[in-house]
Amino acid sequence: MAIIGAGIAGAAAAHRLREAGRPVVVLDKGRGPGGRMATRRGPDSLRFDHGAQYFTARDPRFKARVEDWTTRGVAAPWGGAERFVGVTGMTAPVRDLLDGIDLRCGRAVGRLVRDGRSWRLQEADGAALCEDAAFSAVLLTCPAPQALALLAGAGEDLPGVAEVRYAPCWTLMLAHDGPPLADAPVREDRDPDATIAWIARNDSKPGRDGGGTLVAHAAPAWSRAHLEDAAEDVAERLVAALRERMPVGAIRHRAAHRWRYAAVERAVGEPCLFAPETGLGFAGDGCLGPRVEFAFLSGLALAGRALGEAAR
Ligand SMILES: Cc1cc2nc3c(=O)[nH]c(=O)nc-3n(C[C@H](O)[C@H](O)[C@H](O)COP(=O)(O)OP(=O)(O)OC[C@H]3O[C@@H](n4cnc5c(N)ncnc54)[C@H](O)[C@@H]3O)c2cc1C
Repeated sequence: MAIIGAGIAGAAAAHRLREAGRPVVVLDKGRGPGGRMATRRGPDSLRFDHGAQYFTARDPRFKARVEDWTTRGVAAPWGGAERFVGVTGMTAPVRDLLDGIDLRCGRAVGRLVRDGRSWRLQEADGAALCEDAAFSAVLLTCPAPQALALLAGAGEDLPGVAEVRYAPCWTLMLAHDGPPLADAPVREDRDPDATIAWIARNDSKPGRDGGGTLVAHAAPAWSRAHLEDAAEDVAERLVAALRERMPVGAIRHRAAHRWRYAAVERAVGEPCLFAPETGLGFAGDGCLGPRVEFAFLSGLALAGRALGEAAR
């Protein structure tokens, strides 16, 4: 089987399939695994969790996994209220699930091509991926618009994928010499008209080196209004907005990252989608909602369906 996307959903699915003894290949267009559980490197060994900030665990299956991660030092509590982060970056839990799995990064799947009862994967220009191997099932764990494009190109549909909606998010990564947040480690603003919705002391997370790093997420409405702006302009505006909220010292590094599909606003409302007759499936936070835990559970569910389990 092939899994497209090495975020937490794809990693959970791959892990489950491997446990069941099924060969699996995971492809991701990014340079490494993690998806929106992301860690970005800056100069001077700076590192920022610029996607998901933390995760919670409520479902017993995810709780058991998080307990295992914390026991082995892959994750650790942070900031109270049963919040957990990867150690030493948010990608750590995803990497852990993918340990020993055939993971191929830097591979953007552009086309799904039917070959009898199997599927072949191609880049957008038609070049073969995976040495032209054929797969009995292809599990799509990329954000819904990207999954939809692949399905449409193959002349297939998984009802529900087209209805999923995401809010964008511009993220500021900043290293400065000012005092840390007074009420560390986070500050939230739920005003929909705010420029910045979330500020986190990135350096307060366990295992992170270096002081003075913070991550700020712009609010959804602001992010939407500035979606196509240049990253450098956005970084400048977000630093200005940050100065209104806290003292900012001499800036050592700043960068902005645009998440076009950040937080699910409308989900499918089912754990996953799977069509046994074609072997195509969809999982991720687009199924159950905007949380790491939901994406994990969705990936597990899709692996179960691909293994022949009934829908729950
Ligand atoms: C700014 C931000 C803050 C967040 N904060 C939190 C938080 O605090 N707590 C929380 O629980 N959740 C948070 N989330 C949400 C959480 O990160 C997501 O719900 C979760 O990580 C989604 O995982 P996923 O596997 O479904 O998708 P993703 O992590 O997006 O993985 C999909 C993968 O598919 C790959 N891909 C896409 N198209 C292709 C293609 N054509 N070929 C190959 N690969 C492809 C992508 O590169 C990506 O790696 C946040 C998200 C963002 C962006």
